[in-house]
Amino acid sequence: MKILVINAGSSSVKYQLYNMKDESVLAKGLVERIGMDSSIVTHKPTGRSEVTEVSEILEHTAAIRKVLGLLTDSEHGVIGSIDEIEAVGHRVVHGGEFFSESALVDGDAKTKIRQLFDLAPLHNPASMMGIKAAEANMPNVPQVVVFDTAFHQTMPEHAYLYAIPRVLYHKHKVRRYGAHGTSHDFVSKAAAEFLNRPIEDLKIISCHIGNGASITAVKDGHSIDTSMGMTPLEGLMMGTRSGDLDPAIVPYVMNKEDLTVNEVNSMLNKHSGLLAISGISSDMREITDGVAQGDANSTLAFEMYTYRLRKYIGSYAAALNGVDVITFTAGAGENSVVLRKKVCENLTYLGVELDEKLNEIRSGEPRRISSANSKVEVLVIPTNEELVIARDTFRIVQGLES
Ligand code: AMP
Repeated sequence: MKILVINAGSSSVKYQLYNMKDESVLAKGLVERIGMDSSIVTHKPTGRSEVTEVSEILEHTAAIRKVLGLLTDSEHGVIGSIDEIEAVGHRVVHGGEFFSESALVDGDAKTKIRQLFDLAPLHNPASMMGIKAAEANMPNVPQVVVFDTAFHQTMPEHAYLYAIPRVLYHKHKVRRYGAHGTSHDFVSKAAAEFLNRPIEDLKIISCHIGNGASITAVKDGHSIDTSMGMTPLEGLMMGTRSGDLDPAIVPYVMNKEDLTVNEVNSMLNKHSGLLAISGISSDMREITDGVAQGDANSTLAFEMYTYRLRKYIGSYAAALNGVDVITFTAGAGENSVVLRKKVCENLTYLGVELDEKLNEIRSGEPRRISSANSKVEVLVIPTNEELVIARDTFRIVQGLES
């Protein structure tokens, strides 16, 4: 079965075409600047060279039409006809309390995703555009939605509620939902598989450290707490996001600087984090380069970033009453040797002992970076959110057929 995985943003569509026979990627690509003056389409058939085209793509239906055209193109294509695509899987950021697992797209699912627009105003409307665009181009193909929040629906009430008037939860669903669930789910399962141990026996702390960063406590294979909250702003310090801060700062700064709600939102989401402290970049590579060159602001940004990460690991070890495995994934988690070293160096009280040589190996494969004496397994597990979406879509669509 061939499955098209779609990740639609407000002005972009990322895609991967999977052959589920061997879970191989046949092609992947990206349509950017949808609705702007010149859209850019990048298409990469596996094993062949990448093609880039600039054209006018005004909305998502046209973007998907373009993608399908490239997938079936005589020169750059990987399939003979659109009919070979038997299902489409969509990444959706917010599933609220409606979705604790992936679901087939039907009228009910679409109504629920729409009801969540308020909670994810930037993301869910974009996902809906992707769903509608895929339906318009492939009306008879089943579509599945896979949610970033679903894995965290197992969090207990004491972890997901905020200590504010409960009426806000009942009326407006103000609570913690978390994000990166697809990644934390994939990585924790892959960690158990790598160690050849049942996931039910493991206490795992999963660190997803990319542009956005979050950390999850996984017990018996279920998320029991995670650092992102009602929105992806809470928790760790990130590339451009502040992470945790005293909520009283918001009205104080709005008042002092005469900022609007949108402006303060933009400050906390786009102009904070590594970027604000280093004054250089939101990219961990540039920060660690700055540290190596003795730049004081980059060093401070790196110290703050790793300090906060270590504090979260400590608090999740407390939440789990111990920890068997710590995993690192995503851009910086998979690639930054110095970040992992810095985080692990003050976790000796938990029995963490890093093997510096193993930490320096780059392989793109799941691997152990802790020493043989370490009481905690420290692993690097490359994440693969698209594959989870493809697998969930495959499972749900197969269920339809049987
Ligand atoms: P992601 O959001 O998972 O794509 O991660 C993107 C981020 O990973 C980038 O902004 C970088 O900060 C970080 N990153 C990628 N490669 C490296 C590297 N070799 N060393 C440090 N950070 C990296």
